[in-house]
Amino acid sequence: MLINLTGRRSVRIATFHDALYRCSNCHSFDLDIKVYREFHHFSMIPFRPAGEKEAKIFCNKCGQGLRTESVRREYEKRARTPVYFYLGFILIGLAALGVVGWQFNEDRKANSYIASPQNGDVYLIKDTQLNLSVMRYLRVHEVSADSVYFYPGNLAYLLGSTFDSSDYFQLDFVETHSRAALKQMRDTLGITEVFRDYDNGSGFNRLR
Ligand SMILES: [Zn+2]
Repeated sequence: MLINLTGRRSVRIATFHDALYRCSNCHSFDLDIKVYREFHHFSMIPFRPAGEKEAKIFCNKCGQGLRTESVRREYEKRARTPVYFYLGFILIGLAALGVVGWQFNEDRKANSYIASPQNGDVYLIKDTQLNLSVMRYLRVHEVSADSVYFYPGNLAYLLGSTFDSSDYFQLDFVETHSRAALKQMRDTLGITEVFRDYDNGSGFNRLR
């Protein structure tokens, strides 16, 4: 079955009872007012209101409809558009907040790894040479009081941050950075990610 992904849908947003106006048919003061409004939806999730509010008034005693413009307007005004009419935007906002929170947490973790380096930690660093930014992976091999010794990855990357399946850390080379320099690199966004507790699928255990 095919369904429309987008469209409008009408729902009742308020119900009132009124004992101030007289039914033109049976003259009783017993009116039921229902106010409707449409929303634009995407895949049945409301995104924003559509059109105007619309009040429907019926006598509770005899069922006669009441069409008095002023009474309708009054109740259309009183009926508030529910917040869930914006649900789609609210969900998008929450998702964005979630991403920001996750990123914040990742940043905090990376900072704490850099503050206390361990053997096996893998750093993704950005090098700028000849005005060209390249990304490289370094794997911590040894830590001393003031320096960190790394095995450098074999490849340099222009974009992206996935360790290539052909890349490995070179046991023949050791690259040294002072711990102070690493902190500074982190502050100037030269270290973009730090990995610890990774699994074998990451490829970070390939050393040659
Ligand atoms: Zn009536």
